Amino acid sequence: MTTTASVDLTIRDISRGAAAGSTCSTQLLDAPWDVDARDPGYGPGASMADPIPAASPRQGEIPAQYREASREELDARIRAAKAQLGEKVVVLGHFYQRDEVVQYADYVGDSFQLANAAKAHTEAEAIIFCGVHFMAETADLLSTPEQAVILPNLAAGCSMADMADIDQVEECWEQLTEIYGTEPDAEGRVPIIPVTYMNSSAALKGFCGRHGGIVCTSSNAATVLEWAFARGQRVLFFPDQHLGRNTAKAMGIGLEQMPMWNPRKALGGNDEQTLQDAKVVLWHGFCSVHKRFTTAQIDKARAEHPGVRVIVHPECPMPVVDAADEAGSTDYIRKAIEGAAEPTTFAIGTEINLVQRLNAQHPQHEIFCLDPVVCPCSTMYRIHPGYLAWALESLLEGEVINRITVSDDVAEPARLALERMLAAKPGSAAPARGTAGAEA
Ligand code: SF4
Repeated sequence: MTTTASVDLTIRDISRGAAAGSTCSTQLLDAPWDVDARDPGYGPGASMADPIPAASPRQGEIPAQYREASREELDARIRAAKAQLGEKVVVLGHFYQRDEVVQYADYVGDSFQLANAAKAHTEAEAIIFCGVHFMAETADLLSTPEQAVILPNLAAGCSMADMADIDQVEECWEQLTEIYGTEPDAEGRVPIIPVTYMNSSAALKGFCGRHGGIVCTSSNAATVLEWAFARGQRVLFFPDQHLGRNTAKAMGIGLEQMPMWNPRKALGGNDEQTLQDAKVVLWHGFCSVHKRFTTAQIDKARAEHPGVRVIVHPECPMPVVDAADEAGSTDYIRKAIEGAAEPTTFAIGTEINLVQRLNAQHPQHEIFCLDPVVCPCSTMYRIHPGYLAWALESLLEGEVINRITVSDDVAEPARLALERMLAAKPGSAAPARGTAGAEA
């Protein structure tokens, strides 16, 4: 078992034969700028087989001085630039980010925690988001117009977020509205409410804002679905089918009432009656990191580690969530480990960077990833200290590179969908009479 927190070093050790184990791609050792120049895809890692939309941003060439600098030189330059910029810059690092970058983060967390950290630092002129594209968009939505949100490598998208684009969702909505109509039932509930996972583009959050819908995170998905069912007869849930299915199933909704919507098929691949009977229409999206986890891995962990506590992320497929002891967000997993009083063996079903870091931070426990193959999130892996150094030193020279901005016409309804989420509390889902599903 690996005890270092650095996935990058683990992959190097495995490739050199200095450590046991395997990785999902030998190209993980390549520098991200080589990948940027070569592949129009997500790069090596868990999402490498997913098709990337043609309109996805590409990263232009990064100056040679950052490509050629040694790790030690980059470390010294990043620390010096951060010290010089002081409060003018905040660096955010996602839980799934590589340790070589996370070590410079002022805040480490999930996407929503980090967006809120950005919001709390109005004194910062620049927010460098070491995560993926939709996270930087959310930070832009919640920060002030004067603050610049920077994504160090524009190629750091998210394959799951990209599985639902605004044109496909608009088309789906049109077809569903044709079937369901728009009239509320006797209880004032509209035929369908759109719910988007935080892991989606700002355009989809804006869509939800415009159509009486809401955003959810993996921590509050059940509360948000309760909110939606108080206002609507059905839910269109995108882009992650697994979070939608796992959450709705735990609320007692039958699988037969959760048809999948495949945007490449007529009526999403369903007949009209199935859609009429639906409670939750699930978008055909998934996370390629969490799709790697299987029930066979859980069986193996239980056989080899009697008493093991298995915790998986709700983006995992339903059989995996059902076979685990617990399922919860990255923050839930972190807190469960921190809260374990006795030395415990944990088998975790989430991204390897977080799992290895938790293992290094909690030597009293044994913590390992259910997936034996070291296969990080491809898109998160595109951020390298070289890009961070480039972003910071550009700021010192008065230049903002790779700024992510959400246009006002999208930002306003997207914020509304986020505000609805923040106002939704467990057990307080009932709408004020007469406002159910109101378009905004
Ligand atoms: S782990 Fe999955 S959902 Fe998260 S950024 Fe990577 S591809 Fe997207």
